[in-house]
Amino acid sequence: MIVDFRAIIVRNQTRVTAELIASAPHLQVIGRAGAGLDNIDLDAASSAGIVIAYTPEQNAVSVAELTMGMMLALARKIVPADRSTKAGNWERRESTGIELYGKTLGLVGLGRIGYRVGARAKAFGMSMVAHDLYANPDAFTVSELSARMTDLDELLGVADFVSCHVPLTSATLGLFNYEMFCKMRSTAYFINTSRGEVVDEQALVRALKEKRIAGAGLDVRQEEPPEKGPLSEMDNVILTPHIGAFTKEGQGRVVSSVCRDVAAILEGGEAKNYFNLPKPKRM
Ligand code: NAD
Repeated sequence: MIVDFRAIIVRNQTRVTAELIASAPHLQVIGRAGAGLDNIDLDAASSAGIVIAYTPEQNAVSVAELTMGMMLALARKIVPADRSTKAGNWERRESTGIELYGKTLGLVGLGRIGYRVGARAKAFGMSMVAHDLYANPDAFTVSELSARMTDLDELLGVADFVSCHVPLTSATLGLFNYEMFCKMRSTAYFINTSRGEVVDEQALVRALKEKRIAGAGLDVRQEEPPEKGPLSEMDNVILTPHIGAFTKEGQGRVVSSVCRDVAAILEGGEAKNYFNLPKPKRM
């Protein structure tokens, strides 16, 4: 279908493989309406001189706000309390939660989203530890949050909430395995709004069943959509269908930004938000 196309725009489900790219000799730009680029063969596109225009932070606030929502919902057991109350119960004691105030948030990945989660958590009176292999320790993201940069093991040992904001790469694939969950505090919550493949879900289920952690919030899954499994039965687990970026404002910014950049390329101009090249080498 794309043999004559000069541009394609994808979200995160379309796999833009080397084969797909090779079958489109006129392709000049791949627009990615979103932040993660793990569904695009970046080397194949770059060596063909095709621009990858994307939206690195247009939806970051939306993802950060969903992460805060998950933290609050887990801490205050909002979802089970809602279900129980709607079923006609009035279970106050069972719904006793914890405050975010005074707790430690462990941010794994201190990039555009991780930083924004930290900024919001700071307003709740949380203190921050962060692990990021590539972050500049002198960056404002670190100083503004008064974040203590640590290695991952130390972070897991001290955090009351562990929130994952790394990209999916060969280094982060399956990063959160059983051993990692065992390093967390048994009272701690794990939240993942990054990419599902960063977590070994079987290991997470085991850690939850063995009460090695207190609960989890997952917006992203190893398989999307996932089969109904043990996580769906757990009251201390919140599941959402990869909606981190799905707000009117976030989607509006993403769509207008990627369309503007793709149109600019097709008119012979430059992309403002690009991964590899501002203009295509292939004309
Ligand atoms: P970003 O690139 O701004 O930040 C990622 C950070 O992770 C960087 O600071 C980087 O140095 C760090 N990092 C990379 N590899 C690491 C490793 N092995 N160990 C430790 N740190 C590492 O990205 P972002 O915009 O903050 O996005 C973070 C994640 O959120 C991405 O996976 C993205 O795909 C995902 N995301 C999800 C949704 C959603 O709908 N749930 C929406 C947008 C983005």
